[in-house]
Amino acid sequence: MADPILIGGEWKPGRGPDMVSIYPADGSENGVVAGADAADVDEAVAKGRAAMADPAWRDMKPHERGGLLMGVSRLISERHEELARLQMRDNGKPIGETRALVASAAGTFRYYGAVAETMEDEITPSRGPYVSMSIYDPIGVVAAITPWNSPVASDAQKLAPALAAGCAVILKPAGVTPLVALELGRICEAAGIPPGIVSVLPGPGSVIGDALVTHPDIARVAFTGGTEVGRRIARQAADKLMPVSLELGGKSPTVVFADAKIDHAVNGVIFGIFSSSGESCIAGSRLFVQRGILDEFTAALVAKTEALRIGDPADERTQMGPLVSMAHRDGIERYVALGRAEGGEVLTGGARPEGSGFDYEKGSFYRPTIFAGLPNDARMVQEEIFGPVLAILPFDDEDDLVAQANDTVFGLACGLWTEDYRRAWRLARRIDAGTVWINTYKMFSIATPFGGLKESGTGREKGRQGIRQYQEQKALYWGTNETPIGWAD
Ligand code: NAD
Repeated sequence: MADPILIGGEWKPGRGPDMVSIYPADGSENGVVAGADAADVDEAVAKGRAAMADPAWRDMKPHERGGLLMGVSRLISERHEELARLQMRDNGKPIGETRALVASAAGTFRYYGAVAETMEDEITPSRGPYVSMSIYDPIGVVAAITPWNSPVASDAQKLAPALAAGCAVILKPAGVTPLVALELGRICEAAGIPPGIVSVLPGPGSVIGDALVTHPDIARVAFTGGTEVGRRIARQAADKLMPVSLELGGKSPTVVFADAKIDHAVNGVIFGIFSSSGESCIAGSRLFVQRGILDEFTAALVAKTEALRIGDPADERTQMGPLVSMAHRDGIERYVALGRAEGGEVLTGGARPEGSGFDYEKGSFYRPTIFAGLPNDARMVQEEIFGPVLAILPFDDEDDLVAQANDTVFGLACGLWTEDYRRAWRLARRIDAGTVWINTYKMFSIATPFGGLKESGTGREKGRQGIRQYQEQKALYWGTNETPIGWAD
């Protein structure tokens, strides 16, 4: 029988279709949950509103709320290995990566516990007979809609600041990865977050996601996912005049100058595109190499890529596990075929792995793939593939580089490899990207805000200010007149 889900403080079967989690390394079933439907959304939102209005949550002191979040962090850490394995089975990422994601989730709750306790309202300068303040109240019931690629971390990135702000949250995980979000629901409950404040509603995006976004009592949507769904959510939010944060797709440039430390750059480029099997919004999927070192750099990159270890996600040494599903691998294969049809040359990969080391047949594996010879306007170079596929393009000088790197609808991230710090400074400002890594890649800190430009999204998550998107700012004026307001006399 399908497992229950968390609807408004109660664990019970949802009224929607069952959601099945498959281990993409071998196709075995991890579990089945009774997914939600629109009636469950109504119930969860109503109970979330009621729980927010209850003095037990509404009037909780900031340090008490912070303490609860610290408790969530501790429980995540206590269950670290179990959650990492569950996350690995849900989406196939190697165990080393999922351990890091769980540690990140614990850190996120710890950080926002501290933010809850230390954020302050403001006294604004008085310009008359009053004392004026700017204060922050919870915005209301929040819908947190997340993708399948790093669920435990992206769920925490929305849950923790929203709870720190005093909101109720309805968490909707992606259909293929429902399991970890439900465990986070259990952990919030065990840490003492009042019933109804957190609901977890797995279900199809077109039904549950849509019902949440259009629900009149959802006050804010925090969305991470693809650009097309994000655009649709933005349109729906406009009708309600509802604020949304959208963390969307990317096609990020990585740039290697002739003066770069080549061994650092080779490792950084490989990590940037092939870790997480390329299923990463910030994957450095367009590589620009200065023409003078193109051949040398390409040869080193291909050689090292061919030595990557693909296989069992539970093996500590594995660098690339399977893709999240067979359907997703089919999509990547279509892109590789398109790249070939567009005139690209596959330097390595372009096929499923073979060999005796692992039973690749049962899982959705794909080799790391490098293309050369495509123009910057090829579809393979412009569209987000969300898989282990890299396109190499040459550039001549800074102006040529900026023109090519910015010639994309996306603006999520960028990697710069150069020993010239003045150049790095110039280019970091000129390239359209929400995050620029200089002589590193995919480094993250919860203390540093993150988000995209252009079609990579709007709004920022993380950092102390990350709590603000879940709050309404209000003005208070305390009159200090000794006499009545004169106008009415
Ligand atoms: P997706 O857009 O298909 O789905 C994301 C979430 O939205 C899922 O929970 C899905 O069920 C839900 N959804 C689908 N249709 C919906 C609708 N009509 N209304 C409301 N919700 C709906 O994305 P995905 O395939 O799960 O994830 C991959 C995408 O996510 C990639 O484009 C990737 O770049 C992006 N991503 C971005 C970031 C970031 O921080 N910028 C991080 C991770 C992933």
